[in-house]
Amino acid sequence: MDFDPPAAVRPLLERYERFVADVVIPAEAEVLEHGFAASAGRLAELRAACKAAGLWGPQLPPELGGLGLGLVEHGLVSERLGRSPLGHYAAGCQAPDAGNMEILHKFGTPAQQAQWLAPLSKGEIRSCFSMTEPENPGSNPTLLSCQAVKDGDDYVIDGHKWFTTAADGAAFAIVMAVTNPEAPPHARASMIIVPTSTPGFERVRNIKIMGEAGDGWGSHSEIWYRGVRVPQANRLGGEGLGFMIAQERLGPGRIHHCMRWIGICERVFETTCRHITRRKIDDEKTLSTRQIAQSWIAEARAEIDASRLMVLHAAWTIEKKGFSAARDQVSLIKFYVADVMLRLVDRAIQLHGALGITSDTILAHYYVHERGARIYDGPDEVHKMVVAKRLLARYQ
Ligand SMILES: Cc1cc2nc3c(=O)[nH]c(=O)nc-3n(C[C@H](O)[C@H](O)[C@H](O)COP(=O)(O)OP(=O)(O)OC[C@H]3O[C@@H](n4cnc5c(N)ncnc54)[C@H](O)[C@@H]3O)c2cc1C
Repeated sequence: MDFDPPAAVRPLLERYERFVADVVIPAEAEVLEHGFAASAGRLAELRAACKAAGLWGPQLPPELGGLGLGLVEHGLVSERLGRSPLGHYAAGCQAPDAGNMEILHKFGTPAQQAQWLAPLSKGEIRSCFSMTEPENPGSNPTLLSCQAVKDGDDYVIDGHKWFTTAADGAAFAIVMAVTNPEAPPHARASMIIVPTSTPGFERVRNIKIMGEAGDGWGSHSEIWYRGVRVPQANRLGGEGLGFMIAQERLGPGRIHHCMRWIGICERVFETTCRHITRRKIDDEKTLSTRQIAQSWIAEARAEIDASRLMVLHAAWTIEKKGFSAARDQVSLIKFYVADVMLRLVDRAIQLHGALGITSDTILAHYYVHERGARIYDGPDEVHKMVVAKRLLARYQ
């Protein structure tokens, strides 16, 4: 067993580290202050710099202009990019586009790939994924109300969605809608590509998250689909296969998120260590001499290192043995790493005192915008229940 990153990928990881430190982090303050729409020019510069450095699309296959990295390698890259809230965006592997590219690549028709995947993979357009509904529990997505009814060669879609991340400014949505209401629960829904310019697509608002509505890529929208008519040729994959395709999207997606969260942990850990070794709490001693701070630092180091090993092992299992062999591992990392990250951010804020809740450090941004980590892609409680049931079944 070799715990070093593969030799071939080490120089690449160093290049990503330098790119994030030298190019992406210096742009953060401006973009986070003014928002994504107002910073379009600055964000385009970041992406151009990333392409020029040969770092664009780490997860994309070479035929789409990417580096074609495997899941473990991309996980390692994702940690480096995760050190900035703009890292994944700059490299063209941000959620939800990365997941949409993956399913378009795997399940899209040549026409769908030419129309949507090609410009998406170049970063010319953005997309969103529209499944969750305010009236139904997102943690049990078989209970969808949104319907797509056949009419001639078209589908007519009616439904109410929310938390559609990055819908503001997206060129198209992949909508999860019931096409086969009489089928068993997991075979009722299909994924359908809906251009956001289609009549009846009504983006109601960007939902405020702890007081911030955000904009562009950094937002979550409420949307009504009212009699939205699209050709049946816009269905992605077979009829009733929406949940199967969603699973394809979520497995690698959870690895990407968890490794991004580890990047956040490392940034927060460094920010905290730097602060407490400088902040005097009396004439001579710094905060780092206090046992509570030392204890939190030691615990954080153990938890971050444990998280990384768990996530890379899960990624390795998916690569070598397929997703179903890694189901428990993926559930374990989803709630464990989210918890490690959020506890670390909270403790870092505490150790920074009032400074911690200002926007003068990155901590408050993470506190607001990463709290959702314990909710999206399956709430903690659902992952714990699923794993516990399987573990306990062995003893019954
Ligand atoms: C930041 C963010 C981004 C998102 N982006 C998208 C997106 O792009 N597209 C999209 O379609 N959706 C998106 N979502 C929605 C997300 O998928 C749902 O919020 C999630 O599935 C949970 O559904 P819900 O909010 O309806 O909570 P509910 O299903 O109502 O659950 C509420 C709570 O009940 C508890 N609970 C639920 N089920 C169980 C159970 N079986 N046992 C014990 N406890 C349980 C959990 O604590 C859970 O948090 C996003 C959410 C967030 C926070």
